[in-house]
Amino acid sequence: MAGQKKERKGSAGCPFSKNDVIDLKIDDIGNEGEGIGHYDGYAVFVNNALPGDKIRALIMKVKKNYAFAKLLEIVNPSNLRVEPKCSISARCGGCNLQHMSYEGQLEYKENKVKNCLVRIGGYDEAYVNSIHEPIIGMTNPFNYRNKAQFPVQQTPDGQIAMGFYAGRTHRIIPTDNCNIQMDESNHIAKLVRMWMTEHNISAYDETSHTGLIRHVLTRIGKSTGQIMVCLVVTSKKVPHTDSLVDILLKETGMTCICLNINSEKTNRILGDKIIPLYGQPYIEDNIGDLCYRISPLSFYQVNPEQTVKLYNTALEYANLTGNEVVWDLYCGIGTISLFLAKKAKQVLGVEIVPEAINDAKVNAQLNGITNATFLTGAAETVAAQVAADELYKDIANPDVIVVDPPRKGCDSKLLETIVNVKPDKVVYVSCDPATLARDVKVLRENGYEMKKWRACDMFGMTGHVETCVLLCCTNS
Ligand code: SAH
Repeated sequence: MAGQKKERKGSAGCPFSKNDVIDLKIDDIGNEGEGIGHYDGYAVFVNNALPGDKIRALIMKVKKNYAFAKLLEIVNPSNLRVEPKCSISARCGGCNLQHMSYEGQLEYKENKVKNCLVRIGGYDEAYVNSIHEPIIGMTNPFNYRNKAQFPVQQTPDGQIAMGFYAGRTHRIIPTDNCNIQMDESNHIAKLVRMWMTEHNISAYDETSHTGLIRHVLTRIGKSTGQIMVCLVVTSKKVPHTDSLVDILLKETGMTCICLNINSEKTNRILGDKIIPLYGQPYIEDNIGDLCYRISPLSFYQVNPEQTVKLYNTALEYANLTGNEVVWDLYCGIGTISLFLAKKAKQVLGVEIVPEAINDAKVNAQLNGITNATFLTGAAETVAAQVAADELYKDIANPDVIVVDPPRKGCDSKLLETIVNVKPDKVVYVSCDPATLARDVKVLRENGYEMKKWRACDMFGMTGHVETCVLLCCTNS
């Protein structure tokens, strides 16, 4: 039926059914970077298709108001289209925008944030445009990731496969050359794979819950050259680790080799226990003029070139004079806290992962910073305690609060505490524009106005985007 409309069929008046082939003009792009075309008023989602593409597609799934289709042929390409660097990019779930020009990716990400602020945040589009600062792009959007987590599987013919999962599955698309990872990580994955093959070491099978190696985690200190390799395993009894250590030590910069034990039936990658095999249980890296210690279980931004730009934006938005009390909530290893501490009177960092707080305290010492305090716990609980407890009276009334939550955004209880302690400014750093906009709306309804926002591309070739927003108290 390519090119011609059929009688309405499929579910409730839908113009097509599963397995139909349709011609489609893509006119929009969805949250995950998928192309969206409209056919007889129906939205059709097509992976690897771009606005401006004219395509032929196979209908895979029909829902009430929309459908999913598979790209069969590009009849006429969009001018945003480029040749992907990876031959597997269409199958691998890691990069979903490699077929789009980098300029196109930046525009897409900026619009994504803008749309969320308007549609979810309830802001007027003209206002959102008027307070926007241009997205911070990368100089080279490839080989930027300092952290790789390669899943490991045994193929039906007994080979070891490492790579990345195909989109929305746990099926590995094997690769030795992921173009967004730093070269060292690809090389180490290959060495571990060869070591497993040589010694017949099993990969974990999540269906039967058997086998040993689940993931290979690598972290590279971009500015120090230090390398961490952590094998995520189901048992501490891993044979031939001496041989693995010998192989890895031939690599310049090898600083930390360890096991992480995860014996649970879970999608969570890391377990709680670290067993060192070689060296110290951490690496160090520099951001700007600060040095940070990073343990395997701690969060650390994955794109060093962009992290410094993001943190400088947060610092600029905080506009500190040296007299302020600042809270940095969801602080990880204290990276933003220590950036802010140089310009503030006192900083409080709060983070839920105890290992990260240990790193944060060491990091303050490493950098000679004495005006930062770190507390372990959920931001929503600790912030309320600090605000209420006499013990913390010196830091109970922050002038500025920085939040940098995970994708699910801030807990509503935390937003309540923020409104109660009434800082002059809230600097919201976010990796998910939808939850950012949701939280900005709540703050707006409670006396805060968004004054500036800026997106920063930390995740080139993927649909993800980081954003920094400044909110000011309107009735202080
Ligand atoms: N600002 C840091 C970390 C940001 S990532 C940086 O730039 O490196 C978000 C952090 O929030 C992670 O370290 C995660 O462990 C932590 N986290 C998740 N839920 C939390 C909660 N409820 N309370 C406090 N920290 C939390």
